[in-house]
Amino acid sequence: MTDTPQESFARSSVRIYLRLLTYVKPYWKAFAISIIGFAIFASAQPAMAWMLKYFVDGLQSGENALFFGVPLIWGFPAFIIAIAFYQGVGSYLGNYFIAKVSLGVVHDLRTALFNNLLTLPNRYFDLHNSGHLVSRITFNVTMVTGAATDAIKVVFREGMTVIFLFAYLLWMNWMLTLVLIAILPVIGLMVTSASKKFRKQSKKIQTAMGDVTHVTSETISGFRVVRSFGGERYESERFLKASTENRERGLKMVRTGSVFTPSLQLVTYSAMAIVMFLVLFLRGDATAGDLVAYITAAGLLPKPIRQLSEVSANIQKGIAAAESVFEQLDEEPENDTGTLESARVGGRLEVSHLTFCYPGTSKRVLNDVSFSVEPGQMVALVGRSGSGKSTLANLIPRFYQHEQGEILLDGTPLQNFTLRSLRQQIALVSQNVTLFNDTVANNIAYGDLADAPRDAIVAAAEAAYAKEFIDLLPEGFDTLVGENGVLLSGGQRQRLAIARALLKDAPLLILDEATSALDTESERHIQAALDRVMQGRTTLVIAHRLSTIEKADVIMVMDQGQIVERGSHKELLALNGYYARLHSMQFEEEQTPQA
Ligand code: ATP
Ligand code: MG
Repeated sequence: MTDTPQESFARSSVRIYLRLLTYVKPYWKAFAISIIGFAIFASAQPAMAWMLKYFVDGLQSGENALFFGVPLIWGFPAFIIAIAFYQGVGSYLGNYFIAKVSLGVVHDLRTALFNNLLTLPNRYFDLHNSGHLVSRITFNVTMVTGAATDAIKVVFREGMTVIFLFAYLLWMNWMLTLVLIAILPVIGLMVTSASKKFRKQSKKIQTAMGDVTHVTSETISGFRVVRSFGGERYESERFLKASTENRERGLKMVRTGSVFTPSLQLVTYSAMAIVMFLVLFLRGDATAGDLVAYITAAGLLPKPIRQLSEVSANIQKGIAAAESVFEQLDEEPENDTGTLESARVGGRLEVSHLTFCYPGTSKRVLNDVSFSVEPGQMVALVGRSGSGKSTLANLIPRFYQHEQGEILLDGTPLQNFTLRSLRQQIALVSQNVTLFNDTVANNIAYGDLADAPRDAIVAAAEAAYAKEFIDLLPEGFDTLVGENGVLLSGGQRQRLAIARALLKDAPLLILDEATSALDTESERHIQAALDRVMQGRTTLVIAHRLSTIEKADVIMVMDQGQIVERGSHKELLALNGYYARLHSMQFEEEQTPQA
């Protein structure tokens, strides 16, 4: 079956919309009440027109005219107030309860998106910039309500108003009313053609908004580089471009709407004009009151029709936003099919014939790597920058999925463990330290460790040689460290990261350049502490500074994803290869004091 683009557009819209409505479902009670409210509101509209008939006819029939058996002079004003009250109640119920639904849907979607972020594979974060991810949660989600509820509100309130008005008009004079009804298909056509434009433009606005967030967050987090390298002009231009783009897109969307609304008015009023003509022309035996009521009711029509047609812009914005929201929700989560839950593994790590390329690339970052480590042993990885050391470290907690070769923990392939259980076995200090904008103590006791007793936190800090500087902080362990620890020095941040790993007390310890920012003295202290904690656990240390790994049981030299030399410090020196060269260079450096 072949689809015209028109049809497939309509079908995808309907699918997205229906899916969006599943988020409204839990709120069906509030939703129903609001519909009742809008029905009350809408039914009051023809009542106003109907009332006018009595008013005009009453004026003609003189002073003792009756309104529901009460003199017109009293009955009529009382009725007006009653109608206003009735409409007010309807309006309150409708607006309040629909807001309850729409805010609920925003909340649910936002929460779903955020929780989904926590399950996405690392690769997703590699390939998407954070600005767009943030803007999706803060901006796109609010646009979704445009479709999920604001539009529904208008559709119901104004839709029912139109229906009630038409019913009243048909009841008064069906032939005349048919003339009015004849314009409906014209309106329908106009709305569909505008909808498509709205959706396209709205998608572009969302991307532009993501760019604005992206540039802003990048500049804020990198402001030191921006300043020291004179990047102000570049960033300012980049921001200007993103923001201008946003403005232009927004303006375009408004332009579409601004052409659309008056055109529609023109069509509606033309129909009204024809009706007026016919009313005057075929006056017949209708009373003045009938005519006034009819024309008033017909005159009430254009406003709700206009609002109904404008709703299409909101719906399209919402659908475009929902599309991006669902796109993320449909992303495959991290592959977690393993079922093995181990309280605590022994820590035997075996890597055999491991070959790895980052997904979507063809370069072998690891090429046939094999080695094994026993509990209590320390393995060190050295090698040129870019040789694949961090990649290897990242494969052990399964941040990326390897496809060729095997990694076994206690003889079991990593994939057999549940991700959670596997990661509980590993304490990782990664090359880039991440700290949260929280206290020192909470940064050490993060996540699963949040309930750790204060003594344990202090002990971990002590072992990581962090206590000496923490004690000097204004509030000790309760000092806030700032965003990503900006209030601390690089070495201090590294020591907190080490303390965090030590507190975790996991059978597998991975240190990726964990002490690179430390002075020799602090490093020695940490080494001594590590010597203690390494007992009984498997340790993988990645280091550029060779002095830190001399004691390792095995040192592996990596080059271009392969292990090119392996052995103890002494053996490698005797081999007189890459390691020996590196060692003599670093040794010389240490001997020649810096000028
Ligand atoms: P360094 O000593 O500088 O930390 P490394 O040995 O840790 O280097 P890796 O970070 O493992 O090196 O990187 C190895 C190679 O993999 C590099 O060529 C790099 O370009 C590539 N690479 C690293 N991370 C990714 C990623 N997320 N996606 C794609 N390629 C990557
Ligand atoms: Mg690295």
